Amino acid sequence: MTSKYTRIYADYNATTPCDQRVVDTMMPYFNMHFGNPSSSHHAHGWLAMDAIDSASETLGTALGVSPGELVFTSGSTESINSILKGLYLKGRSKRNHIITSKAEHKAVLDTCQALEAEGAKVTYLDVTANGLVDTQQLKQHISDTTLVVAIMLANNETGVIQPLQEISELCKTYGSFLFSDATQALGKIPLDDFFDHVDFACFSSHKVYGPKGVGLTYIKDGNEKFLEAFMHGGGQQRKLRGGTYNTPGIVGMARAVELSVKNLEVEFARLRGLRDQLQEGLSAIEETVVNGAAASRLPNTLNVSFKYVDGEGLLRALSKQVSVSNGSACNSANVNPSHVLTAMGIPEVLAFSSIRFSLGRYTTQEEVEQIIAIVSREVAAQREANILWERRKR
Ligand code: PLP
Repeated sequence: MTSKYTRIYADYNATTPCDQRVVDTMMPYFNMHFGNPSSSHHAHGWLAMDAIDSASETLGTALGVSPGELVFTSGSTESINSILKGLYLKGRSKRNHIITSKAEHKAVLDTCQALEAEGAKVTYLDVTANGLVDTQQLKQHISDTTLVVAIMLANNETGVIQPLQEISELCKTYGSFLFSDATQALGKIPLDDFFDHVDFACFSSHKVYGPKGVGLTYIKDGNEKFLEAFMHGGGQQRKLRGGTYNTPGIVGMARAVELSVKNLEVEFARLRGLRDQLQEGLSAIEETVVNGAAASRLPNTLNVSFKYVDGEGLLRALSKQVSVSNGSACNSANVNPSHVLTAMGIPEVLAFSSIRFSLGRYTTQEEVEQIIAIVSREVAAQREANILWERRKR
């Protein structure tokens, strides 16, 4: 990566660079095959619609679902809004209760809050110290008024993977839908039985080396009728999501997902090796805690609290050397401690001193070694300036 800053990128959960093979696949659809896929009366339109159909097939095969179960969107945020609001608008007269967890992405939490203002009753489940949804609490709250349970597959800040099978069984008992935000899981862990458990799901292209501004909603076969359309106009995508297809984006996402899924096994092992190396190196720094370590986690994600360190100060010190984050990118203007870590019962002061490292396709072992050296140095410098560090052993 060339820029005026020499720095290491370790924020792949925020976004990923577009793979050159994806860019190459997209290029012809900007100017050569530029037709509107909905122009059904001429060859320019047919060619573009062929590309959309072929992308749907590729995505269906890569995910192990039927292409007819997929709807293209502008990303996971739109998919989340369309599923939760779409279900609520259609189903609220019979069921108006939604269950989610306090550790979900803000796209889910803010949408639930907006629905509360519309009259929905929302239960926000606690998570355990490991970051896992408290299924005992879910059992206490789920009832035959529960419309949908929204629990993510893998957390963007800690990488913690949720027990969806157990949650799905409870949902089936009560006739509630299970929606799972799988944005961070795609391309990182196998989704073998994921689609057996969920009724609705969402994915985002830019987390898997595809273009930004493209995503997918998964709607299990037969469930379309439970959703109110989110975007009206034009009648595209079975009237569920009007608007001209983003042909280059969709073609690019299909290629990106295909590449990620194809290489998953090898990449999983490689990333886990690098993440474990990073975890070991950073754990050698005194007074550090790895958050979510006891749970099953994504292979690329590491969330560490450095006691006696101000996370903002550390982020600032690291900013020109290593690109990392202290929560989700969408939230980085936020001065509150991470809602995910506080939901896990981590004290605010420790949550403030936490950094998320997320590795990816272009991370090398040398970079991991450099990260360990840089972070060790900067943590020591931050502590030097903290009187509490000196006094801690007295
Ligand atoms: N859900 C999770 C778990 C995410 O990590 C993100 C992105 O940070 C989103 C949803 C939002 O995705 P998008 O950027 O495609 O709207």
